[in-house]
Amino acid sequence: MIQFRRVNKWYSDLHVLQDINLDIAEGEVVVVCGPSGSGKSTLIRCINRLEPIQKGKIIVDGHDINDPKTNLTLLRAEVGFVFQQFNLYPHMTVLENITLSPVLVRGMDKREAEDLGMELLVKVDIPDQASKYPCQLSGGQQQRVAIARGLAMQPKIMLFDEPTSALDPEMINEVLDVMKTLAREGMTMVCVTHEMGFAREVADRIIFMDGGLMIEENTPHEFFQNPKSERTKDFLSKIL
Ligand code: ADP
Ligand code: MG
Repeated sequence: MIQFRRVNKWYSDLHVLQDINLDIAEGEVVVVCGPSGSGKSTLIRCINRLEPIQKGKIIVDGHDINDPKTNLTLLRAEVGFVFQQFNLYPHMTVLENITLSPVLVRGMDKREAEDLGMELLVKVDIPDQASKYPCQLSGGQQQRVAIARGLAMQPKIMLFDEPTSALDPEMINEVLDVMKTLAREGMTMVCVTHEMGFAREVADRIIFMDGGLMIEENTPHEFFQNPKSERTKDFLSKIL
């Protein structure tokens, strides 16, 4: 579903992604972790071309996404993105946040989009919040709306960039639970997170990044029990 082939990216002279090779199959759940500034956000932002790359190739669902002929709007419809800071539209209700893109981008009928939106609000367990505005919700609820908004486009891939890092501790699990459900349903997911309990429970693979390099790629069991690299061991000793 996602292939990185010798992907390199620079921010002026900072070599932020160095020769990244990666293959993610349909239905796989991959967790990306590593110290701050290691390139995790940049890596996943490249998957829906929020960031361009300078060298190498990224293939998403068979499309070379840096080919000028690739339709970016359609690509982004296939690839949902959930940010640390929710990024909901503050002047729209919860339901309007969810139905906007299906109507505008997918050309879905408004009523149909609203039915789908209500279904998704049930799925993320806040069906009674549909007519509220984002500022009236808790952080955990806002993040669940953001996930529902991503799902409303019926994406093939969902990307998460530290989706629980801005939340108060008591709200983290309600968001992780939604992500676990998605994982169990077979969604292809790439999650940047430091929630190692989540990684252990649902990841098929864990990737550890440091300094723009993919240092280690391992199953959760091996990653925690028997990390290959010293840098991984050092990182784990700090966060576990
Ligand atoms: P992480 O998500 O692992 O914390 P990022 O991918 O956000 O790391 O950033 C990797 C490096 O690239 C950091 O040194 C960061 O300061 C730098 N960086 C990120 N975004 C930009 C940008 N738009 N312009 C210049 N440098 C950036
Ligand atoms: Mg980041």
